[in-house]
Amino acid sequence: MTQTAPARLLIVGPPGAGKGTQATGLAEAYGIPAISTGDIFRENIKNGTELGKKVQEITAAGELVPDSLTNELVQDRIGQDDAKGGFLLDGYPRTLGQVEFLTGLLEAEGQAIDAVVQLEVDTDAVVARLLKRAQELGRVDDTEEVIRHRQDVYANETAPILGVYEQRGSLVKVDGMGSVEEVAQRILDALEARVPRA
Ligand code: AMP
Repeated sequence: MTQTAPARLLIVGPPGAGKGTQATGLAEAYGIPAISTGDIFRENIKNGTELGKKVQEITAAGELVPDSLTNELVQDRIGQDDAKGGFLLDGYPRTLGQVEFLTGLLEAEGQAIDAVVQLEVDTDAVVARLLKRAQELGRVDDTEEVIRHRQDVYANETAPILGVYEQRGSLVKVDGMGSVEEVAQRILDALEARVPRA
């Protein structure tokens, strides 16, 4: 088997764009762990840890957890053995401050992000789908207000990070509308020439 360089990838898109689902498939295709900060926070909330208690209200309100807490968590996670051969971050970085932190962290190891997959979706369609799902699942906490607020936080805090990666030449835009399989194939096709798979 030929040895390939480790793939260090990000996937970015508004809440409800299908990031989590695509992250799982993409990470599997590259043989790297998918690391979701949202999943880590939810796990901590479920287990009632100190971290969970700190972030419970923040996440329920659709706000962002402070950079200091999130950065520390990611530093710890990507320093673990299974991430030495690459990783896919889902839901991080979400602010310009997090981009700066991650860049510095990787630079210190002589590393960099190879590609940033941006899932482009129709926000109105996504909000309508999230509302329908919240109603069907009886998620009373996922009110229309919170759902819309999460989209606003994405537009204000997270969308600006895309410009940074675009300038660095690492942004890969992918049409995120369509079936899970269609979008998954588009992502693999878009990454093929840029990030070799083992
Ligand atoms: P997600 O499942 O990625 O939408 O994350 C769920 C929630 O966790 C978000 O609404 C935020 O409150 C919090 N969260 C996840 N990732 C981050 C991050 N990188 N920075 C700040 N807060 C985050």
